[in-house]
Amino acid sequence: MTAAPEPRRLVVVGASAAGLAVVEEVRRRGFTGEVTLIGDEPGLPYDRPPLSKQLLAGEWETDRLLLRPGEQWEALGVTYLPGTAAGGLDTQARLVRLVNGATCEYDALVIATGAAAVHPVSLGAGLAGSQVLRSLPDALRLRSALAQGGRLVVVGAGFVGAEAAAVARDMGLPVTMIDPLPLPMVGVLGEEVAQMLAERHRAAGVDLRCGVGVTEALSEAGRTTGVALDDGSVVNATNVLVAVGARPAVGWLADSGVPLGDRKRLGVEGVLCDKAGRVGEGIWAAGDVAAWFDPASGRHQRGEHRLAATEEGRTVAAALLGADLPAPSLPYFWSDQYDLKLQSYGTTGRDMAFTVVEGSLSTGRFIGVYGHRDSDGLPRTVDGVLGNGMARSLRAWRRAVLDRAAWPVAAPSAV
Ligand SMILES: Cc1cc2nc3c(=O)[nH]c(=O)nc-3n(C[C@H](O)[C@H](O)[C@H](O)COP(=O)(O)OP(=O)(O)OC[C@H]3O[C@@H](n4cnc5c(N)ncnc54)[C@H](O)[C@@H]3O)c2cc1C
Repeated sequence: MTAAPEPRRLVVVGASAAGLAVVEEVRRRGFTGEVTLIGDEPGLPYDRPPLSKQLLAGEWETDRLLLRPGEQWEALGVTYLPGTAAGGLDTQARLVRLVNGATCEYDALVIATGAAAVHPVSLGAGLAGSQVLRSLPDALRLRSALAQGGRLVVVGAGFVGAEAAAVARDMGLPVTMIDPLPLPMVGVLGEEVAQMLAERHRAAGVDLRCGVGVTEALSEAGRTTGVALDDGSVVNATNVLVAVGARPAVGWLADSGVPLGDRKRLGVEGVLCDKAGRVGEGIWAAGDVAAWFDPASGRHQRGEHRLAATEEGRTVAAALLGADLPAPSLPYFWSDQYDLKLQSYGTTGRDMAFTVVEGSLSTGRFIGVYGHRDSDGLPRTVDGVLGNGMARSLRAWRRAVLDRAAWPVAAPSAV
């Protein structure tokens, strides 16, 4: 079989972690064709994780978030179109339609449009003082709102909500955080660690209300005044942060024929790809928008993690050039809240077995491992690790995850 010819014109839609990783990696691999990077945000691509951490806290300014400083762009040799939204895709003619009326032809296309935060009208979309946190303007708006004081209500105790609540408490603001699940971040951390996290938030002074949902946003004269909860109570607020999740930005792909997931039917949303990010003839997808096929589970999976966006971008770059694919690395995430810097490798989750293997949750310095349960309900292997404040041990346990060490676990040096 002869390899497909190398593309001449590469178009990447979405100019953030995943899209930029594709562009940088094809150039690093010596690709000399035309590269066009299309992004609907103005300015240069920036990093999102600091938005709910250092930027919100006022510790970092905007220029520190840039993924690639301005002076390094020329060397990349890319036509960068900021402030330019893709509005449609014609896979037959191999062109992207831009909202400004122009078109952009490609031999290879990478979809890297990420995800957009959900902000339902019932939770206050359109009201002054109610907002989401996904973009740099969102973070700057929230930062200046917090500087005015007043109670912050955070709807949703996931990564973004819990981090923003911690920053607001560190600023001395009254904070209420509400989530219908029984504990913050319980889906990803599991009950024991989430319990420790709940205690941290309460000890820091957060009015944490779990196991209760928000029924509606309350307002007066177009400005948020608080939220009503399904236990009949009302929480007054000066500002409301709606942090109830994000959905893949696939609106521009409607009618394109690009295969899309469907939460009800497939249990996953986003652009459906094979295990190297390939969507179809000449099309790949990477990052938060993409649901890659996972051979281990036999299902498509979509994550929203920063490192995965870069790694998928690099894999797609190799794939579209017909090169050998880099070895897949372990999933990784981190979250900063107060003095906690949680870090995790592999798979973690509420349905998995969990045990602390070093340190203790009560001191906050710990390493805990997760294992998928077999049909008898017992774990057989170490499938994930999560830790705080024990960086060296965490690296050793990462190895145990890579090796799928046996459960019950031995010390990692002996694994
Ligand atoms: C506040 C916050 C904190 C986070 N903290 C962490 C963390 O601590 N750890 C972690 O692992 N992950 C974290 N994440 C997640 C991480 O930032 C994402 O996984 C990562 O940004 C995904 O990169 P991406 O390039 O796939 O998508 P995105 O970053 O969403 O970028 C997609 C880009 O495409 C653009 N776009 C969308 N539609 C179009 C269109 N039609 N035309 C042109 N452009 C378009 C978007 O505007 C955006 O610029 C955080 C995310 C947020 C929002």
